[in-house]
Amino acid sequence: MRSQDYDRLYLSPPHLGRHELNYLHKAIEDNWVAPVGPNLDGFEQDICEFTGAGHCVALSSGTAAIHLGLQLLGVGPGDEVLCPSFTFVATANPILYLGAKPVFIDSEAETWNICPERLREALLEMQRQNRRPKALIIVHLYGMPCRLREVLSVAQEYGVPVLEDAAEALGSRYEGQPLGTFGDVGVFSFNGNKILTTSGGGALVTNHPGWADKTRFWATQARDPAPYYQHSEVGYNYRLSNLLAGIGRGQMGLLEDRVKRRREIYTWYQKHLHAIPGLALGPQEPAGGHSNRWLTCLLLNPAETALTPEQLRLHLETRNIESRPLWKPLHLQPLFAEAPVYGGKVCGGLFERGLCLPSGSAMTEADLQRVASSIHAINHLA
Ligand SMILES: *Cc1c(COP(=O)(O)O)cnc(C)c1O
Repeated sequence: MRSQDYDRLYLSPPHLGRHELNYLHKAIEDNWVAPVGPNLDGFEQDICEFTGAGHCVALSSGTAAIHLGLQLLGVGPGDEVLCPSFTFVATANPILYLGAKPVFIDSEAETWNICPERLREALLEMQRQNRRPKALIIVHLYGMPCRLREVLSVAQEYGVPVLEDAAEALGSRYEGQPLGTFGDVGVFSFNGNKILTTSGGGALVTNHPGWADKTRFWATQARDPAPYYQHSEVGYNYRLSNLLAGIGRGQMGLLEDRVKRRREIYTWYQKHLHAIPGLALGPQEPAGGHSNRWLTCLLLNPAETALTPEQLRLHLETRNIESRPLWKPLHLQPLFAEAPVYGGKVCGGLFERGLCLPSGSAMTEADLQRVASSIHAINHLA
């Protein structure tokens, strides 16, 4: 560690509580170090209890959960999958793993998530061309619920099954119901910078009992029920380890507190930054939405300020404060240069104008002051 790293403010570092170590200790004492064990069952139960999902399978990553989730929906070679452009690449990479093709949809300006009108446009045009998308992926970016009511009603109208990427949205709600439970399949991530972490991990939730069993089967090398090793399907090594699930059990008990703190941080920034001309915080909650506020983001309006997000990021860096650009839309990525996109200007504009601020739930008032005063300092120069 370099000396300056001591006071570095990170974007969203892990925030552990008092009980993770107990679960780890117990697993090691009882020799449950093999990849299955009581922590794994307990962690899955905790996730079901919190979300109300019928079944949960803990996996090695959120990406693995999206991969197996799309496979549950029957996605295969040559299929088309609808997907928001404004998201992390891990949402769409599994479409490629399966030999399928993404069709990207723009955001709407309030929640920054998939635009129901652009979605309808895409489905209408595809219908006219006799193209039937195999699945729709929806994402709740930065923990913000998408316009679920409108989006789900369009999906239903066209009979498209939904995979809900709630990797960033554990603890968020829509009309009182936890996110992750609205799709045919829901996905969470426990990567190092998410609201809860197991250092690395993910989970798939579903209400179809057969689908949970199938997911466990695929995630453990697709071993047929025989006394020897027999395989009829391709499998994966995607199960979460019992040790990491122990960290997850400790973390799940902290979820309500973590959501509360992240929401306080958003409100704090709002109060201390709102007076800066051309600066606005986002995204905004839709009617019925309750975000976990995983990350607080800002937008700079070039009509009102000369300051750019990149200037601000570099300035914060000089004060040892980490900030990051918003996700670069997938339709602008070289990897997806060939993919069709419906709209694209809304998320393209957000990418050009936005920045994510340090939002970790362990931040103190002094940490928040440090970020705000740094932003005020450069704003006076701009
Ligand atoms: C983090 C993330 C993922 C992937 O989760 P991993 O556990 O890192 O594989 C997928 N989608 C979104 C929107 C994410 O932020």
